[in-house]
Amino acid sequence: MIQPIIDQQVIDKVAQLVNGVNTIAITCHLSPDGDAIGSMLALAHVLRRLGKDALVVTPDMMPRSLLFLPNVRSVVSFTQHEARARKAIETAQLIFCLDFNALHRIDKLGDLVMANPCPRILIDHHVDPEPMFDVMISFPDASSTCELVYRMLMQMQLLRLVDRNAAQCLLTGMMTDTGNFAYNCEDPDLYEIQASLMRRKVGRQWLYNMAMNTFSADSLRLQGYALSQKMRLYLPQHAALITLTADELKKYNYKRGDSEGMVNKPLAIPGVEWSVFLREDPEYVKVSCRSVGDFAVNDICAKYFNGGGHINAAGGEFYGTLDQAVETFEQLLIELFPATNNENSTDNEIRQ
Ligand code: 5GP
Ligand code: MN
Repeated sequence: MIQPIIDQQVIDKVAQLVNGVNTIAITCHLSPDGDAIGSMLALAHVLRRLGKDALVVTPDMMPRSLLFLPNVRSVVSFTQHEARARKAIETAQLIFCLDFNALHRIDKLGDLVMANPCPRILIDHHVDPEPMFDVMISFPDASSTCELVYRMLMQMQLLRLVDRNAAQCLLTGMMTDTGNFAYNCEDPDLYEIQASLMRRKVGRQWLYNMAMNTFSADSLRLQGYALSQKMRLYLPQHAALITLTADELKKYNYKRGDSEGMVNKPLAIPGVEWSVFLREDPEYVKVSCRSVGDFAVNDICAKYFNGGGHINAAGGEFYGTLDQAVETFEQLLIELFPATNNENSTDNEIRQ
């Protein structure tokens, strides 16, 4: 039995808002991932089955790896179809904000969303959401926004409208945000939700392969190169760092999404409790951090890298050179671990 966790008054309010409108926009954070796209498409699908005119709008393009999702072609991206995206947000009578907690996370859509006086509903699992939402379904302990969309639909008695397409979208987000149920995965409800989605014949094996186990040859080679040549271990500080320069990315024909998941790899090494990946993008150095246990990488990303996220998975941007970003990271090691001698190992061997 899946426990209802969303306050009934909140559920009633969402139902009332949805029932009172026709035109609904759904949006998410920049560089949308499986959870963002999956939760938006599933919600849009259910809203359309309710007779609503629901449109999914993303701030920028989605990765190629998610193009297998049902109805993905209906997504309007602001960077590709600005006029359509603008119109969708401007004419919406209700806006669902999924998988983000702060306005800057939706980039240029932020001003448009704030300019529309219609109600805004947040469904999200990041800490400390900004106070700009009329209704908040915010559960930082939830595995994913997809889990929360499922829970909301369950409590709204709308699960009958979750068909195979919507179920595939929801399970994709739950899988991608938990590393296929490898982390943030202790809540038994997750498996009941998964079972309920699987009863809709999602084709779990296919879904896993499409969402999490499909890489181009270039991407695999890039990952191999990064791990064999570019991973530095800082064992006294339980840390690992991987950097990739713009030239290295070019050499491996880097495409958006190709380095997805790389930051997680060093956590497999006994003794490594947090991992940082720095990628030299055209406008900034993209920072990704992962950790295990209580080590809060969202705080680190907020303080040093203009970002944020979850305790164990966070990211941000560094405005400076890649070398400066590395210096910032190494400075951070000294601040965080003043007692260690900051000796680090640049080889890939664990020293016993
Ligand atoms: P990733 O490392 O996969 O880009 O991001 C991991 C998580 O960190 C995301 O799910 C998101 O919550 C958060 N995140 C990534 N980049 C940023 C950023 O620039 N700003 C903030 N606030 N959070 C980010
Ligand atoms: Mn998410």
